[in-house]
Formats: sequence, C-alpha cells, structure tokens
Amino acid sequence: MIVVMRTGATGEEINEVKRTIEEHSLEAFLSVGEERTVIGVVGPDVERVEHIHSLPGVEQVIRVSKPYKLASREHHPDRTRVRVGSVEIGAGSPLRVMAGPCSVESREQVSATARWVRREGASVLRGGAFKPRTSPYQFQGLGIAGLELLAEAGAGTGLPVVSEVTDPSQVEVFDRHVDLLQVGSRNMHNFVLLRAVGQSRRPVLLKRGFGATIEEWLMAAEYILSSGNPNVILCERGIRTFEPSTRNTLDLTAVPVLRELTHLPIVVDPSHGTGHRSLVRPMALAAAAVGADGLIIEVHPDPPRARSDADQSLSFPEFGDLMDDLRRLEYLREPVAAVAPPSVAAPVELERLRDRIDDVDARLAALLEERAHLAVAVQQTRSSGDHGHDVARERSLLERAAASEGSVLSAQDREMVFGSILRASRSAQRRSSAVAEESAAAEASASAAAGPGSAA
Ligand code: PEP
Ligand code: MN
Repeated sequence: MIVVMRTGATGEEINEVKRTIEEHSLEAFLSVGEERTVIGVVGPDVERVEHIHSLPGVEQVIRVSKPYKLASREHHPDRTRVRVGSVEIGAGSPLRVMAGPCSVESREQVSATARWVRREGASVLRGGAFKPRTSPYQFQGLGIAGLELLAEAGAGTGLPVVSEVTDPSQVEVFDRHVDLLQVGSRNMHNFVLLRAVGQSRRPVLLKRGFGATIEEWLMAAEYILSSGNPNVILCERGIRTFEPSTRNTLDLTAVPVLRELTHLPIVVDPSHGTGHRSLVRPMALAAAAVGADGLIIEVHPDPPRARSDADQSLSFPEFGDLMDDLRRLEYLREPVAAVAPPSVAAPVELERLRDRIDDVDARLAALLEERAHLAVAVQQTRSSGDHGHDVARERSLLERAAASEGSVLSAQDREMVFGSILRASRSAQRRSSAVAEESAAAEASASAAAGPGSAA
C-alpha cells in the first residue's frame, strides 16, 4: 500500500502517518520526491491501516496490485539515481560503463585494466574475487586477496569498484573493500544473501537470475529494499532459453519493460549475455539504444589467457572502439544530458594544433575526392561490362599501407583506413557504371523505337 501525502504536508503530519503504520507492526518506507512525500507500507495485512486516508496531510491511499511494492513506480514515481562512490547511475545521468576483468588474477592485470578502462571513459571498475563457477575444478578467484587488489586498483585510478559477494558472511569485508556489492545471477534467489546485502550501507547491483521472470527479479530487489537498503541497481545479463548459439539470450526487452514497472536504474551485461567477444559491441550499443542506464563489460589485457570467461572478454583496443561508438550514440540517446561540456578556452598552442588538423582534414577530403574521380575514370575507360578490379594492385596497396615503418598508426588501423577507401572507390565505380548502363539501355530502346535506318 502506498500513502501519498499532499504537496506541502508538514513533517509532523508525515510522522503521524509513519507512527500509525508502525503501531500496527507494519513498516513505513519514506520516499521524499521533489513535490511530495510517498510512504510505502509493507507487512502482512496492510489493509488494517487503510483508515490512514483520513489523517491530516494525506492525499490518497493506493493499493498496489503488484507483489513488489517498494520497487514499483507507484511507490517512487520519479526514476531513482543511485550513487556508487562518486558516480551517479540512472535518472538522467549519462550512460555509465562498468568495466574490468571477469576475475582479478594479479596486481598487474587488474591495475593495467583499471588504467585503460578509466582512460577510455569507464566510471566503475569491475573484478571478481569470489567466482561462482559452474565447475568446482575451475579457477575460483583469489578471494580476499583479489578484493584487496581490486580496491587498490580502484584507489589508484579513482574508480569506484564492484565485485560479487557470494555469502552473507562476506558482506562486512566487502563493505570495507568495494563501493558496489554485486549479487550474481546464481544467487538472485538466495534470500538470506539478499537480506544481508539489504543491511549493507553499500549500493547493490542485482543481476537477473538466468531462469527468473522480471517479476521474480523485482521481488528479489524487494527483499533488499525492504531490508532497508534503497540503493539497488538491476542488471540484465541474459536468460537461459532453447537457443544454444549464445551463452544466454540477452533479454533487451527487459529494459523498456522495467522502465515502466520500476524506478530502479537498469544496467545491461552483454558479456555474460552473449558469451562471445564479437557480440558484445552490437549488444552493448543496442542496450544503450533501448534506454539502459549503464553497461557492465568484461575487459582483459590478454583475453585468450583470461582465467575465466576468455571468450567474452574484450581486449583493450576492442574496449576503446566500443567506448567511441557509445559516445557517438550518447548524443542521439540523451541529447540534453549529453551536450558537450562547456568549452573552456583552449590554450593557444592547442588551438593552433587543432587548426592544423582541420587543414589536414580538408586536404584529405579533397584527395579522397580526387582518388574517387580517378577510380571512376578507370571504370569508364574499361570495356563496357567489365567490372573486374585489379585485385593484385589492391592487395599491394594494402600491404604497402600495413608496412609503413615508424607510423603512429598500427598496421591494422592503416589497413582499415585504406580498406575503407578502396571500398568507397569501388562503390563510386559501381554507381557510375550503373548510370552508364542505364543510359546506354535507354539509348538502345529509343533507337529501336525509331525503327531501322533511323540511326543515320
Ligand atoms: C560476473 O559478473 O562475473 C558473473 C559471474 O555474472 P553472472 O552472475 O551474471 O553470471
Ligand atoms: Mn565473467
């Protein structure tokens, strides 16, 4: 049951409602909004306090039909923003990315990853120390030592950290080392653990059980909220379906569904959701597009050698590419929130360098145009109908590009750029020959219509 107070209800009126609820051995959860206060009533037989509607300052009493109350939008009409260390997630904050290794393996591994992901714009460092592995023979994590290394890497980069807690007895030590407690998919139904993290002062990242419905997941959140911890972030990480081509089926529909049902922030984990490195980027972008408040991504300095989840961990450059794409998308997603930070006057030297870059870009655009014109001229000089490309020439161009010594660009980057130029030139050629073929066909049919002999 939800008690909605009038706008401007006094503190005394609010206290009186709270006292009445508690006198009936029920619990009252205050949610103070910008306009009004809403009080959630939970416990057995809440109808016993329905008469509250006649107390001063009360506007209305609403029976919540859903089994979850505190997680519902009725209880908290505005979306919640949860603070993790110095970072806020949800309700109009920009998309937040949590990133780091599946498991903390060593000081070097976690600190190098922390530096990299921070440089690329991640807001939170992830790293498992207690790993809930399917097999008891697999790497189980470094335990407390792993938590300490994670905390050290977080402190070294200024990133808050998140790690999975697997047992209620660990909550105290986690409270000391991490900024966000993760409850993993396999533990979503562990109600003792949910109550224990509900008593923590740290926010909780609650992953969806791989066999849980959205309602069951919200009921798990309700355990945490009703134990006194209002700071819950939900994490969609894929569910088990009949489809074997991905590790799980990432249920992105859950994001807009949850936005209707709950005020809690929603994060998506495309790493566990897909299980394949190549699928992380497209699904991360899709999650951002459907309104996720954040993402959690596995990143490793040397993915093939990761001690857990090697197949789904991104390398540093792959993570960098993903962050670039997400930044582009953010302008479409939240045009207001994502406006560029107010431009501070750049130092003269910086301005000068940027002017030179603008100049180089203009020359590159002109050269690109010139190259495409030449490619089209080549196409037109070929005998008609000949679409063959000189594959050997193209390959040697790419090889020359890759071999440029001492370049600041990697061979892979240069190949990518020249590959794109070749593809663009080829499509210009195709367009020009299509136009030529069309006009030749039009001419032919016009002369056929004019009849024999008219061509003179
Ligand atoms: C993890 O994030 O490391 C993890 C084990 O995820 P999940 O609980 O979603 O499988
Ligand atoms: Mn993992």
